[in-house]
Amino acid sequence: MRAIQMVDTKTQYLKIKNEVDAAVLKVMDSSAFINGKDVQDFALNLSQYLGVKHTIPCANGTDALQIALMALGLKPGDEVITPSFTFIATTEVIALLQLTPVFVEVDKDTFCITPEAIEKAITPKTKAIVPVHLYGQAAPMEAIMAIAQKHNLYVIEDNAQAIGCDYTFSDGTVKKTGNIGHISATSFYPSKNLGAFGDGGAIFTNDDALAEKLKRIANHGQSKRYYHDEVGCNSRLDSIQAAILNIKLQHLDEYNTARRAVAAYYDAAFANHPKIKTPVQASYAKHVYHQYTVLLENSTVRENLNKYLAEQGIPSMIYYPVPGHKQKMFDQLGVTNQEMEVTDWLTERVISLPIHTEMDEEQLSFITNHILTFLNQPI
Ligand SMILES: *Cc1c(COP(=O)(O)O)cnc(C)c1O
Repeated sequence: MRAIQMVDTKTQYLKIKNEVDAAVLKVMDSSAFINGKDVQDFALNLSQYLGVKHTIPCANGTDALQIALMALGLKPGDEVITPSFTFIATTEVIALLQLTPVFVEVDKDTFCITPEAIEKAITPKTKAIVPVHLYGQAAPMEAIMAIAQKHNLYVIEDNAQAIGCDYTFSDGTVKKTGNIGHISATSFYPSKNLGAFGDGGAIFTNDDALAEKLKRIANHGQSKRYYHDEVGCNSRLDSIQAAILNIKLQHLDEYNTARRAVAAYYDAAFANHPKIKTPVQASYAKHVYHQYTVLLENSTVRENLNKYLAEQGIPSMIYYPVPGHKQKMFDQLGVTNQEMEVTDWLTERVISLPIHTEMDEEQLSFITNHILTFLNQPI
């Protein structure tokens, strides 16, 4: 059996090696390392894939979120509603820009921010909402956009974990996540569903004026070379990464299908088991399983399973062991003691199992058998 990994980017690469190697060599030969044709092609292809008007490639997903927030022209102290139960990048950039992250609860089944929690957190200072499509599951965007419209707020989707996810609105319209909010951000970190061979990210919008502003901010605030209209930053996607991503984009749907097949295998193996709760698929979207995250009875069981699996050569991860509102970096916000029952409950129970595009049945049966053996042992 091949060694089991949380993600296996090497095996995935070997399947497209010829194409990828040729594309990389071509960039080296052209030496158009910055903003070459591959970057422009990739932006166009990605726009087409998502059905979005503008794609602005940038250096990583964290920058994408930061640039998106910078484009809104907010003032220090303005409030941005976001889940506590997410990767730190989502909330960190809010604080970095001297805006105030307002942490709200997620749903215990979908792991995503809830419309009820958002409504409760709105104050006259609220300017934006940053929902996260966590683990590849879409946040309830239809309700979120309705709240945003009612209260005149911006919505920035954190789509770093859900690229390729289809969202169905109540009138039957289907859109990709990342094409629903006013702006959205994604990451091409190697382990993401669409992963580069290094860092990368992109920002999306259907708004022409915002697109111009996002482009300008990502490029030192300049609209014309050496004329800098506003304070921006330097955030670019390398041509080599774009060339690789152009190839991988053609496989994205197939990659997400492979992830869903792994999830279906796990779902079937653990179906109705009283000691493990498998991920719930929201009715409105097609999960793309960036992670396959289950819930266990408590943190002790989780620790024991994590150790037991490691002894069998099976990795497992806790995403994320500390929620945003308890991170030391936010001490000055005084939110450590904020009541976040669901978030705290989930934080103690979640564990993510290996899931990627290259898993085979032998590995899956090995993993599920060991987990069932662990769960079924008499205490
Ligand atoms: C990966 C990730 C990011 C940040 O992306 P980087 O490319 O690592 O900067 C932001 N938000 C979420 C939810 C992520 O998973």
